Amino acid sequence: MNESPIATFLKNRHEPCPACGYDLCDTAGEACPECGLGLRLQLAPRESAGLATIAGASVISAGLGFSLLLWVVMIIAYVLEWGNGPGVYRIHLALAAGVVLGAVCLAIWVRLRARLQRASPRRRWLLVLACLAAPLANLAAASLVIFVIGI
Ligand SMILES: [Zn+2]
Repeated sequence: MNESPIATFLKNRHEPCPACGYDLCDTAGEACPECGLGLRLQLAPRESAGLATIAGASVISAGLGFSLLLWVVMIIAYVLEWGNGPGVYRIHLALAAGVVLGAVCLAIWVRLRARLQRASPRRRWLLVLACLAAPLANLAAASLVIFVIGI
C-alpha cells in the first residue's frame, strides 16, 4: 500500500502541528491526531514578498489619502469662500493630479504583485522607495504652487 506524501514526510521527522504544537512524528493520517486539524504538504517561496507588497501599497495609499484629504479641505475652503485667490485652481489641479497619480500607481502595484514575488528583495524594496517618490513629488509640486507661485 502506498503511503500518503504527508505520512512519508512525517516519518521519523519531528514537526509540530501548526495549530496545537503536537509532535506529528510518524503520523500516518492526514490530520493531527491530537486536535484533528487537516494537514497538507505545500511548496512555498523561501522568502515572501508580502511585507514589501503591503509596504508599497501602504505608501501609495497614504499619498493618495493625503492628496484626497487636502483636496476635500480645499473644496470646503472654496465653498466657504476662504482664501479663494485667482490662482486657487492650481492647487486643485495639483491635488487632483495627486489623487489620479495615486490611484493609477495603486492599480499598477496591485496588478504587478505577482511579478514582485519573483523580483529580488533588493529590487522589491527599491520599488517600494519608488512608490514613496510619487506622493512626495506631488506634495512638492503642491507646496511649490502654494508657497512659490502663490494662489
Ligand atoms: Zn494539532
